[in-house]
Amino acid sequence: MPGRPVDTIGGVLASAAVRLRESGIETARLDAELLLGHVLHTTRTRLAIDANDPVDATSIKAFESLLDRRIQGESVAYLIGFREFMRHEFAVGPGVLVPRPETELMVERACETIPRLWPTGTVRVLDLCTGSGAIACSLALSVEADRLFITGSDVSEAALAYARRNRAALGLDDRVELVQGDLLHWTSGPWDLILTNPPYLRPDQIDDNPDLIAEPRLALDGGHLGLELIERILVQATSRVAATFAMMIEIDPDQAAEAAGLAARRFPEATVTIVPDLTRRARFIDIECVETNV
Ligand code: GLN
Repeated sequence: MPGRPVDTIGGVLASAAVRLRESGIETARLDAELLLGHVLHTTRTRLAIDANDPVDATSIKAFESLLDRRIQGESVAYLIGFREFMRHEFAVGPGVLVPRPETELMVERACETIPRLWPTGTVRVLDLCTGSGAIACSLALSVEADRLFITGSDVSEAALAYARRNRAALGLDDRVELVQGDLLHWTSGPWDLILTNPPYLRPDQIDDNPDLIAEPRLALDGGHLGLELIERILVQATSRVAATFAMMIEIDPDQAAEAAGLAARRFPEATVTIVPDLTRRARFIDIECVETNV
């Protein structure tokens, strides 16, 4: 008697991708591969090579339960416990924002800004609202150790627990300082470079987006128009930056003009630029001020 057809890696992936796609998940195939790779403790490349290998029943069961949770709106990063950012793995889970690919551009641009504004010496960098520590740690790994003094801060203890774990896993315990504190209240500076991906969404943008349901509201909700925290950061930063300084703030494309206006009002001497992300949407406000010797 013919038995049940053997489930192969390729077959399991194909039907999972269909199921995810039918549930409206755009990254269906990628998600299926990440989840099955997690269950089988293997890489996506290996899954492709071993596509004809059978999958045992226990693994299929575990995979199915992850698929169900994904369909309910949990992020893949939470289900597998990490997200790649700047080619490094960052541990994440409920309680901390999942690093987004568009934020990588801020780290890349910081790497260009540092030698341009500060060709020598140690640059004091603050990653404000560090979350998992993705910006602080990946910048530390991109620039020579003696050039930077990096601090990451966050109001959330839960987020900082992930940041500490990531810092240790990346071997950065003696290179990245982590501080618990509300925005900039805990520091008098002066900071040369402030990088921040603060909460900047409008409450209705969060409520209307099922993908955000599992993420901490504290990391997303920017208050009225999504701009309240950005404004508080700008106000607090005015007395905490060095004479030559740069600041990069991630924003929502909808609020670019308002955010740039707020920045220009708080820093009338500085150059304020709206910077697009790789999909050409306005994604960052850059504030730059170079001290002129009189
Ligand atoms: N970029 C995130 C999103 O649109 C929001 C992150 C944030 O508020 N800092 O989902």
